Amino acid sequence: AFDTLVIGGGPAGASAAIYSARKGINTGVAAERFGGQVADTMGIENFISVSHTEGPKLVSALEEHVKEYEVDVMNLQRATTFKAAETEGGLHEVIFESGAKLKSKTLVLATGARWREMNVPGEQTYRNKGVAYCPHCDGPLFKGKRVAVIGGGNSGVEAAIDLAGIVGHVTLVEFMGEMRADAVLQKKLKSLPNVDIILNAETTEVTGDGSRVNGLTYKDRNTDELKTIALEGIFVQIGLVPNTEWLKGSPIEMTPRGEIIVDAHGMTSVPGVFAAGDVTTVPYKQIIIAMGEGAKASLGAFDYLIRH
Ligand code: FAD
Repeated sequence: AFDTLVIGGGPAGASAAIYSARKGINTGVAAERFGGQVADTMGIENFISVSHTEGPKLVSALEEHVKEYEVDVMNLQRATTFKAAETEGGLHEVIFESGAKLKSKTLVLATGARWREMNVPGEQTYRNKGVAYCPHCDGPLFKGKRVAVIGGGNSGVEAAIDLAGIVGHVTLVEFMGEMRADAVLQKKLKSLPNVDIILNAETTEVTGDGSRVNGLTYKDRNTDELKTIALEGIFVQIGLVPNTEWLKGSPIEMTPRGEIIVDAHGMTSVPGVFAAGDVTTVPYKQIIIAMGEGAKASLGAFDYLIRH
C-alpha cells in the first residue's frame, strides 16, 4: 500500500507527488493522461519566473521533475471508484477502469476539470486560434481586438468586464433572455463603453479564414434569423466542469456543481483524503494555483500520516 496516492497528473498532481516523495514516503501517482489541461494549452505566459512556455513543454518538464524522485507513476489509468477506509487511519482504496486496485493511507485527489464546450462547427478547428476559454490566460493576446464572450453567468460577465479593459471591443452573447450574473456585475458591464450585450442568441458556428477565427454566427431566438459578428476572438464561458463523476455517491462532500470541498489544509470531509487544484472549491483555476494547492494537500497528507 502507498502512504500517499495521488489521483491525477496535471500541475496539482505533479506538485503533490513531488512534495510527498521528498518526505521519503511511499508515493504513487495514477493519471488518465499525465499533464492534464496543460497538455492542451499553447502559450503560457503567467507561470511566474518563466516568461513564456508552451503546454507540451511544461508537461515534459513536470514529468521529468517527478521522475527525479521515487514515485510510482501509473499513466493512462482512469479511476472509477473510491472506497473510503473503514476506520480512521485505515487504507483507502481506488479502483481503475483497467481493473487495477490501489490502496493508500492517504489520497490526494487532483483530477482537475474541463471547460464546457459549445459543440458548434468551427470550435475545435479554431481552438487556440481565436477560440479561448481562460480570460486570465489569453486575454492579453487579444489586445485592441474584437472579441465575444459566450455566456452571461458570473464567469462570463466577469470575463467580459476583465476583457473590456484589454481588448478593443467585447460582445457578450447570452442564450437566454436575461443574464444570470449578479446584478452588481451586470450593472458594471452595462456601464462600459466598449461592450455590447446580445440576449436570446444561440451561437451556431465559429467561422475563420482557415488559420484564425474571423467571426461567429448566432441565431436570434426571437426571429430565428441567423446573424454574424466579425471578430478575432471568442471566449467560451459556459461552465467549468470538475472531473468528479467517479466520486458520486461517495462520502466525499462536494458542492452542487461537483467541486470537492476542502479545508485550509486541503483535506476533504473524509479523514486522510485530500484534494487539490481545479477539482476543488479553490477559487481561480490556474496552473500556479493548482501547483500551490497540490503542495499544500501533500503537506496536509504528510501531517495526517505522522499523527496516525
Ligand atoms: P488538470 O490539469 O485538469 O489535470 C487533471 C489530471 O487528472 C489529468 O492528469 C487527468 O488526466 C487526470 N484525471 C481526470 N479524471 C481522472 C480519473 N477519473 N482518473 C484518473 N485521472 C484522472 N492556466 C494558467 O495558469 N495559464 C494558462 O495560460 C492557461 N491556459 C489554459 C488553456 C487551456 C486551453 C485550458 C483548458 C486551461 C488553461 N489554464 C491555464 C488552466 C490550467 O490548465 C488549469 O488550471 C490547471 O491545469 C489545473 O491543474 P489540475 O492539476 O488541477 O488539473
